[in-house]
Amino acid sequence: MSIALSKLVDKIKPSFTLEMTARAAALREKGVDVINFGVGEPDFNTPSHIIEAGQNAIQDGYTKYTPGSGMLELKEAIQTKIENMTGIFYDTNQIIVSNGGKQSLSVACQALFEDGDKVIIFSPYWVSFPEFVTLSGAEPLLVDTLPKKQFEPDFDDLSEKLDPSIKGIIINSPSNPTGGVWSDEAIIKILEISKANNWVVISDETYEELVYDRQFTAIDNLNDVGAELITIRSMSKTYAMTGWRIGYTTADPVIVKAMSKIQGQTTSCPNAIGQKASVAALLGDQGPISEMKKKFKERRQIMFDELNSLDGVDCDMPGGAFYMFPDFSSYLNRQTKDGKILQDTFDLSDYILDTANVVTVAGDGFGAKGYLRLSFATSAEIIKNGIKRIEKSLKELK
Ligand code: PLP
Repeated sequence: MSIALSKLVDKIKPSFTLEMTARAAALREKGVDVINFGVGEPDFNTPSHIIEAGQNAIQDGYTKYTPGSGMLELKEAIQTKIENMTGIFYDTNQIIVSNGGKQSLSVACQALFEDGDKVIIFSPYWVSFPEFVTLSGAEPLLVDTLPKKQFEPDFDDLSEKLDPSIKGIIINSPSNPTGGVWSDEAIIKILEISKANNWVVISDETYEELVYDRQFTAIDNLNDVGAELITIRSMSKTYAMTGWRIGYTTADPVIVKAMSKIQGQTTSCPNAIGQKASVAALLGDQGPISEMKKKFKERRQIMFDELNSLDGVDCDMPGGAFYMFPDFSSYLNRQTKDGKILQDTFDLSDYILDTANVVTVAGDGFGAKGYLRLSFATSAEIIKNGIKRIEKSLKELK
């Protein structure tokens, strides 16, 4: 019997980054020595004081539903964190906590966009952005970026694509997949254009604490023009808390209320234990965060040097996150030993996995032909070993 699924299922694509993680896990289960540069999460464990807060939460009975938009205690911790960082005080009715930044983004898109709307997304984009927009009924409108300028917006391309149906714009600096950190000037320009055109700006600041070469400026401090701003942050990457599933949004109370209405009918509330652990994370010792950041910075340099030592590979230094986004286009249209021509980076990434047992992620999947994404959220030794293996496989191409 064929099961009739909804049209929505056909409209959205599965997360291929999660598929790559699953492929790596399946190979490991078979005993293959796989090196995984596909990971999108810190390899460090959650700091112990945060784990302890989670354990205490369970013991103390925080095992029930919480208010739909998050516990007051966590909203107050978020207020403190943001006020310390930006000097701006957000009222609790301007804050909503969700089950991860992914839910925050998805609910924000559903609250704001609908059929007939277009939403600007910069390419290369995090794989989920176009899907959030599509799920809301709106249409993603892709705009180019400048690879040699930390993948900042190509403002010429943006002005060519101006269209009255544009309702919003999604930005993400530091970026997944490129690691690019946009200059304050570029972000201010986005805010000005958005204000002039009456667009909503959704700023995904998931990687806010992972900026290596300068002080990060929160978008809240750049919005002098007063564009309609929705800022999304996450506990996942900063505090190595990907599995605890907590993200949060600051926005106008009307938007927060609309998001709470949708969230209340989908997941009721964010995870109670994760919320208690997040209070400890935001208000507690930030030492482990600086330690992790220091390690990431060292590994960034190692991976950068190793990648640039490969023939025909061009890699710029990303300013943030834990991803390198090198250009491997000189290896496209080359032939494998079995006579297969590598047409795109999906083929190249498969070839590297099959021959070197190294997981990379195809840039084609992020809207960037010829690029691969490699995560440096792994040890220096693994980075060196993995790039050596890739080099050997590349040398065998005709
Ligand atoms: N935004 C970006 C750019 C990401 O890379 C991720 C995770 O990979 C998220 C948001 C969502 O993170 P989480 O749902 O774990 O908070």
